[in-house]
Amino acid sequence: MSEQIDPQNTPVDFDPDAMRARYRQERDKRIRQDGNEQYIEMSGDFSHFVDDPYIETAIEREPLIEDVEVLLVGGGFGGLQAGARLRDAGIEDIRIVEKGGDFGGTWYWNRYPGAACDIESYIYLPLVEELGKIPSEKYARAKEILSHARAIGEHYDLYRGAIFQTEVTGMTWDDEAQRWLVATNRGDTLRARFVAMANGPLHRPKLPGIAGIQDFEGHTFHTSRWDYEYTGGGPDGGLNKLADKRVAVIGTGATAIQCVPYVGETAEHLYVFQRTPSSVDIRGNTPTDPDWAKSLEPGWHRERMENFNALVSGVPQAQDLVADGWTDLIGKTMRLFQEAAQNTEAGAPSVAELLEAANFEKMNEIRALVDEKVGDAEVAESLKPYYQMFCKRPCFNDQYLPTFNRPSVDLIDTDGQGVERITSKGIVVAGREYEVDCIIFATGFEVGTSYARRAGYEIVGRTGETLTEYWSKGLRTLHGLQSHGFPNCFIMSGSQGAFTANYPHLLEECSTHIAHILSHARAHGFTTIEPSKAAEQEWVETIIQKADSGLGGLGGKECTPGYYNNEGQENPLAKQASSYGGGSIRFFKILKEWRETGEYEGLEFGRPA
Ligand code: NDP
Repeated sequence: MSEQIDPQNTPVDFDPDAMRARYRQERDKRIRQDGNEQYIEMSGDFSHFVDDPYIETAIEREPLIEDVEVLLVGGGFGGLQAGARLRDAGIEDIRIVEKGGDFGGTWYWNRYPGAACDIESYIYLPLVEELGKIPSEKYARAKEILSHARAIGEHYDLYRGAIFQTEVTGMTWDDEAQRWLVATNRGDTLRARFVAMANGPLHRPKLPGIAGIQDFEGHTFHTSRWDYEYTGGGPDGGLNKLADKRVAVIGTGATAIQCVPYVGETAEHLYVFQRTPSSVDIRGNTPTDPDWAKSLEPGWHRERMENFNALVSGVPQAQDLVADGWTDLIGKTMRLFQEAAQNTEAGAPSVAELLEAANFEKMNEIRALVDEKVGDAEVAESLKPYYQMFCKRPCFNDQYLPTFNRPSVDLIDTDGQGVERITSKGIVVAGREYEVDCIIFATGFEVGTSYARRAGYEIVGRTGETLTEYWSKGLRTLHGLQSHGFPNCFIMSGSQGAFTANYPHLLEECSTHIAHILSHARAHGFTTIEPSKAAEQEWVETIIQKADSGLGGLGGKECTPGYYNNEGQENPLAKQASSYGGGSIRFFKILKEWRETGEYEGLEFGRPA
């Protein structure tokens, strides 16, 4: 096994067996019986954590009672991309209901210092060619991404019909009227012919259920509701009000990796409470070269998105247009995977062996980087991730690791156990109390809970059954987008759809598909669209069959717990809720070919009753 590893990157004392044992040990000590239940829902006593700190003027208005052709839930990229493609299809009567004060979704909420995309912005930002936009940097910052979201809203005239600061509270199908009755927290009744739900996969912040969390008397907030009034400064840093504050950040996921350097720069003292270290690779951000931007030919955006998607799916390309940590990380592994699959010689290493070797090699590189960047050997050791590379979301940042060289910054490694207790004055780990003035929760978003809970409302279908009830024995959709018994309703999520590191690419494909189906319905005077039970069943079976053919290691049960693997707990319904195991390229092709046949196979269309 070890001879498959590139000797250049192999530490002298590297022993694959010992490493396997170490990975297993790191996993085992983190497994907890309470799984997703360890987190607290931000409601009741905790609901203030989700108050919107960014609203400048609270909207006062009378409840709306009206008919609408298409209602989109969510004004993030999903709602905006769907809105754009529906406009392209000539649909004028669109309402977007958005709980924030403006468009932007993830980028409306996540304004913490250092927030930026870490999928290259030239492919991450949607509709850039349509808007004539070239992002200013390889990895654009949150502010620029948010203003692009607003620009999409302007360009496609989606502000007309948008209702902000409004949350959907329920959705019920009225079979007689052939419309969805959509209720909101503003008392609105919107009668929508079609609905598309673009709630976002990671939008409901969560808190850790740490004993004593309510006892803390200092200041607290979640990273997705950054309190600049308290910290001073802005998304580019300069958090000057922290100069006399002792601050705790709980969590070391992708969000913490980005904001910790800025908090560490100004806080009188910063304690970073770590349960599991992230893998932090080189970022290498650069400003956009204007000559390169001028050289781009029409169609460049799609070509670049597809090039990236192909490389991270292991499909060789003549050129790596994006050439970043993702194409290096996934591309290398997938190439090895495919080469091995073709090597049928006796004694050739198996696919699993080669994948593991590539994984060890990459993680050795990541661990070596920690030693290079962090002065104190003990701190460096604590910051090293000991798990396979796709157990946790890989991070890319050049400032995070060196932050721990600051004398005013301490890493409090909880050895996989998490914070023990919160008191009125601070945080307790291993029996020692760290007194702080402020706790910042960088503890992420709900993933493993039910769709309705994360959406914040229930959907009642044709038979009176809720979507939660319908999916209680496993997710059921056609192409991840529609469910039988829930006519005229589209769900924009990756479950039973595709997994791609570049999420807006998936949203683009879903938007095109939805707009195509709705155009057909309008052109023929159909007022209902519903997948047949048989077509849905066939897709469910395809998903289950293909569920095991993915990357391997991505959220596998051998992984340290986290939201990629349902906190390490067996979930008998997980296979059925997974994305299409044949990969996103194949999935997008399935959708395209389905559209091109013009047969709308598996969908049943109805006319006015
Ligand atoms: P995550 O869920 O990734 O991280 C939450 C962190 O909180 C983890 O380190 C977790 O530890 C820790 N934690 C939870 N409970 C406790 C506890 N009791 N004590 C101590 N620590 C605890 O959330 P993020 O907001 O960081 O990221 C969520 C996702 O958002 C990312 O995975 C990514 O997909 C996306 N994102 C994308 C960005 C980008 O594109 N630039 C930037 C930021 C986020 P443990 O790992 O042990 O569970």
